[in-house]
Amino acid sequence: MTVAYIGLGSNLGGRRKNILSAIKMIGAILGTRVTKVSTIIETVPVGGPPQGKFLNAVAEIQTNLACRDLLTGLQSIEGRLGRVRGVLNGPRSIDLDILFFNDQTIHEKDLIVPHPRIKERDFVLGPLKEIAPVVAAKI
Ligand code: AMP
Repeated sequence: MTVAYIGLGSNLGGRRKNILSAIKMIGAILGTRVTKVSTIIETVPVGGPPQGKFLNAVAEIQTNLACRDLLTGLQSIEGRLGRVRGVLNGPRSIDLDILFFNDQTIHEKDLIVPHPRIKERDFVLGPLKEIAPVVAAKI
């Protein structure tokens, strides 16, 4: 059983509904349970083209999946919530990132864990500190 942390963000469509639906769908992935959810905060976009503000949150989960299978599950949820890959760092209905996966370190082309950009992203660090201060202190 792995404890993992997922970053959630949305700045397109029904932002709060997108975040809450994603959390529900993560809990419905076979072998995965959502154990904590941070406060949902509003943040200004970092990088990318001019775009609307985000809502962000972090969820703690317990899962029996391998990290790559979890990534596949999250990407399928992004697809089901209408995520279309367009402009780099552009607006998105939902963005799901694996921040931590136990203490595992993974360096593959399409999967880097811990997520490399946590440190410079207050919209991730803040909610993570709220639900897992000990984990956040590892960054
Ligand atoms: P984004 O545009 O932020 O959704 O980035 C998605 C891409 O980042 C995908 O192609 C993933 O394979 C890749 N990626 C690398 N590391 C991670 C991670 N820890 N969590 C989620 N996606 C990741």
